[in-house]
Amino acid sequence: MTPQDTTEPKCAKPKAVILLSGGLDSATCLAIAKDKGFRSHALTFRYGQRHLAEIAAAARIAETEGAAGHDVIDIDLAQFGGSALTADIDVPKGRSEDDIKDGIPVTYVPARNTVFLALALARAETLCADDIFIGVNALDYSGYPDCRPEFIAAFEGLANLATKAGVEAAGKDKPKITIHAPLIEMTKAEIVSRGTELGVDFAHTMSCYDPGDGLRHCGRCDACLLRKKGFAGAGVDDPTDYAA
Ligand code: ZN
Repeated sequence: MTPQDTTEPKCAKPKAVILLSGGLDSATCLAIAKDKGFRSHALTFRYGQRHLAEIAAAARIAETEGAAGHDVIDIDLAQFGGSALTADIDVPKGRSEDDIKDGIPVTYVPARNTVFLALALARAETLCADDIFIGVNALDYSGYPDCRPEFIAAFEGLANLATKAGVEAAGKDKPKITIHAPLIEMTKAEIVSRGTELGVDFAHTMSCYDPGDGLRHCGRCDACLLRKKGFAGAGVDDPTDYAA
């Protein structure tokens, strides 16, 4: 994919793979990885989502954040359907905060983060990277089973069992591969504040589940409502163009 990666000097910064969806959370996650001193390789999936505005957003973010590389990988979770993000199912609009937090929403994509992390793990092994960053959040998206700390811990265990790098490092002080989820216990307002401190340009990010014309945030889906609340709570000007 990027053969030049094998010729980097040994003193180069440690490498990390960053899952980059193009949303506010993953943009902040990329900025955090950079701040921690990692050379960041962004990874985005065209997975069959109905709206591709987030792919363009991810490319803008990877560029402005100075990612060392950005791979956009095609997979097709829409073949299975089962989500309002991949099938012809209405995206819920105008829900209350209590409704958003109640149960597993129809915008959950079956096993998405498991699939994404598995492919990020493959990319990490080919790059000789020991670190993977994912911008999941367990507070605002409490209904998603694959955004919980237990899931991240379990996947990290799997990553160290499943890979050559993990097996060769077995018995050492610390596991070889680390799954970082730096936003997992943060509120959306805290994420906006942290991203702002790190200089993230949120105007480049796309959170909406249903951007009607492909560019504007609808302003009424769960993701837009949480985004608005995050900026308001952080006291940061919201640069987003909302349709409502
Ligand atoms: Zn929206």
